[in-house]
Amino acid sequence: MIASHLLAYFFTELSHDQVQRVDKYLYCMRLSDETLQEVSSLFRKEMEKGLGADSNPTASVKMLPTFVRSTPDGTEKGDFLALDLGGTNFRVLLVRVRNGMRHSVEKHKIYKIPLDIMQGTGDELFDYIVNCISKFLEYIGMKGVSLPLGFTFSFPCHQNRLNEAILLKWTKGFKATGCEGEDVVCLLRDAIRRREEFDLNVVAVVNDTVGTMMSCGFEDPYCEVGLIVGTGSNACYMEEMKNVELVEGDEGRMCINMEWGSFGDNGCLDDIRTEFDVVVDENSLNAGKQRFEKMISGMYLGEIVRNILIRFTERGLLFRGRISERLKTRGIFETKFLSQIESDHLALVQVHSILQRLGLESTCDDRIIVKEVCTVIARRAGQLCGAGMAAVVDKIRENRGMDFLKITVGVDGSLYKFHPHFSSVMHETVKQLSPKCEVTFLQSEDGSGKGAALITAVACRIREAGQH
Ligand code: ADP
Ligand code: MG
Repeated sequence: MIASHLLAYFFTELSHDQVQRVDKYLYCMRLSDETLQEVSSLFRKEMEKGLGADSNPTASVKMLPTFVRSTPDGTEKGDFLALDLGGTNFRVLLVRVRNGMRHSVEKHKIYKIPLDIMQGTGDELFDYIVNCISKFLEYIGMKGVSLPLGFTFSFPCHQNRLNEAILLKWTKGFKATGCEGEDVVCLLRDAIRRREEFDLNVVAVVNDTVGTMMSCGFEDPYCEVGLIVGTGSNACYMEEMKNVELVEGDEGRMCINMEWGSFGDNGCLDDIRTEFDVVVDENSLNAGKQRFEKMISGMYLGEIVRNILIRFTERGLLFRGRISERLKTRGIFETKFLSQIESDHLALVQVHSILQRLGLESTCDDRIIVKEVCTVIARRAGQLCGAGMAAVVDKIRENRGMDFLKITVGVDGSLYKFHPHFSSVMHETVKQLSPKCEVTFLQSEDGSGKGAALITAVACRIREAGQH
């Protein structure tokens, strides 16, 4: 049934013509099964391109080797410090590992990164980070101890080893100068040196996807994929070394940080991108970049909805044609509103109050349309994410020459966790597009923080074994 029939049934004031105009806009954001299948195949091709040594330089999905190969063997132990930078907040954690499998976050603190620090100079950013670490060490009373440190740094980085990460480009609203092209471990060490107060031993830099996969891997040995749907979106998985042409050696596996957010930056998704996706992209800090991420993740979904609402109002389809000043403010329509609006079932009271706070007086028809817009945008996000994930699990299955693969995906991120429908739409899409895989999704508890400490614990164990 096309949506206009459904919508028309509820409307009281809108004419049939107006309903059709609303539906015409939304139509191109409702993705068909064939389109999703195509997106999945396209993504698979981009994965292959990123893995190939010759094709990597021009690939839009960079498939970055992480140098994470070993999983815990159960003998790791000790206290580890973990930093988590890569989205809305910066966090510092003290993680205690006893016998590998058993680990716990002993203490942790969240520090907000002010916008002027995110977009100031690199030195200011890293001085700020070290200042937070200093406060944390004081808080836990461990300033004199040089703890091994794992750094979850969730931006695309080129790595040649576990404790080196050259930042390729900032994403997700960060823009500190003098960092791109630099090794963030050096930037951190320099800032620690400038402060002359304590010393830290940086053992590993990991992406949040990798930390998430690792920490879920402790609970479920089938967990060989990590997924984040929070401020941004990205995924990682265990690839056969023989397919990782950028790294020497053919034995075993290595975790690949796909950086899937940049899928489509070569134009391959242009057929499904709408005028609203284009506007959101053009108004972002990194125009033209991270096009897939901008259709999926928390930093952008609210903005897409806001732009649609503005256009509908301009066309007289909403709010009797009157746009409020507040609705014109970038970022004012938060992605968590999508969750709240979709959880509002009966009288749409929540929708009414959210719109009112945005200075918009809504009729019943307005509220129905706004809710439909939110549904369509979140559904599309879940489907696209599922199309990418289906390509990943099916590649793993083929890598291993199996007719049927049972696999677990460790997931983190507020959009995935809190939106009422995103996760189920994503799961359905994966099921439909990769019928030869049985995929379990495991929510990570603080994986991006704990994971870095666990990877550090494994690296320390291997390092110590090498010294004997
Ligand atoms: P990060 O990705 O920065 O580490 P999170 O996983 O918490 O952190 O994701 C933050 C993003 O999630 C924000 O962009 C925010 O818009 C979105 N978000 C927060 N709460 C909700 C919610 N209840 N429903 C949907 N999205 C949410
Ligand atoms: Mg996070």
